[in-house]
Amino acid sequence: MNYRHAYHAGNHADVFKHLTLARLIALLARKPAPFAYLDTHAGVGLYDLGGDQANRTGEYLEGIGRVWSNERAPALLDDYLGVIRAMNPDGELRHYPGSPELARVLTREQDRLHLNEKHPEDGELLKNNMRGDRRVAVHRGEGWLVPRALLPTQEKRVLLLIDPPFEQPDELERCVHALEEAHGRMRQAIVVIWYPIKDERQLKRFYQKLSKSNAPKLLRAELYVHNPDDATRLNGSGLAISNPPWGLEDELRELLPWLAQTLAQSHGGWKLDWLVEEGAVNAKPAV
Ligand code: SAM
Repeated sequence: MNYRHAYHAGNHADVFKHLTLARLIALLARKPAPFAYLDTHAGVGLYDLGGDQANRTGEYLEGIGRVWSNERAPALLDDYLGVIRAMNPDGELRHYPGSPELARVLTREQDRLHLNEKHPEDGELLKNNMRGDRRVAVHRGEGWLVPRALLPTQEKRVLLLIDPPFEQPDELERCVHALEEAHGRMRQAIVVIWYPIKDERQLKRFYQKLSKSNAPKLLRAELYVHNPDDATRLNGSGLAISNPPWGLEDELRELLPWLAQTLAQSHGGWKLDWLVEEGAVNAKPAV
């Protein structure tokens, strides 16, 4: 386990993932019924952008750094930026929330959080960072076992984030398996898979597997900061979102062009389409 998210915290992929997570939570919170938030690969929860790890890569400068200094961000960013502003009260960008902290702050009294992180040190940091919030349970086991271990939940609504480090060659496949396991246990779960846009051939197989999965409906949203023609670099990132709440597709259609323009490095772009449409039987593989 070599991956440490502190090197990448706040980069373009984090901005896209965390903004979408904030919108998902806002849309779920329109109804008073409680929901559970599950994070299979949670990281440490809080990041110091002034620290050695973040500064060694400087990735956040081309991610949240650009958004932070942009005065014309759409109102749909308010919740996400509100969390970051509260962590940086003097207006200087120094602290950045991981998915656990973002979810912790944006969820309500009646909601519950299950956060899992396997790395021994990062698990300890996560536990310390989440201390004092009785709605949060921190687990330090195998992330791929989370759907089997925790679903179904007592809450009828679930938001499950699957965000592995992609250190192993089989992790795209494992994501599909975890999604299927989640829907086998809770058909109505909202499952979000984050994936890197690198090798197009591998991604094609991933899309085919997703489109043949048991997800009742599945939205694909992608943000590119480079042309996706070089498999050795992170050209962008994608989110596969099953059972997206009503309104998310329209919101992403508004946000993605702005994100592509704001975060583009050599080339900006985006994609939004359905890998599985509602009611589809034997869905055709998407390309
Ligand atoms: N979700 C976090 C966020 O958005 O702030 C970032 C997570 S980071 C991409 C992936 C995390 O998975 C790392 O912290 C890594 O230590 C952890 N990890 C790696 N292998 C794991 C496994 N098999 N089970 C659980 N966690 C794992």
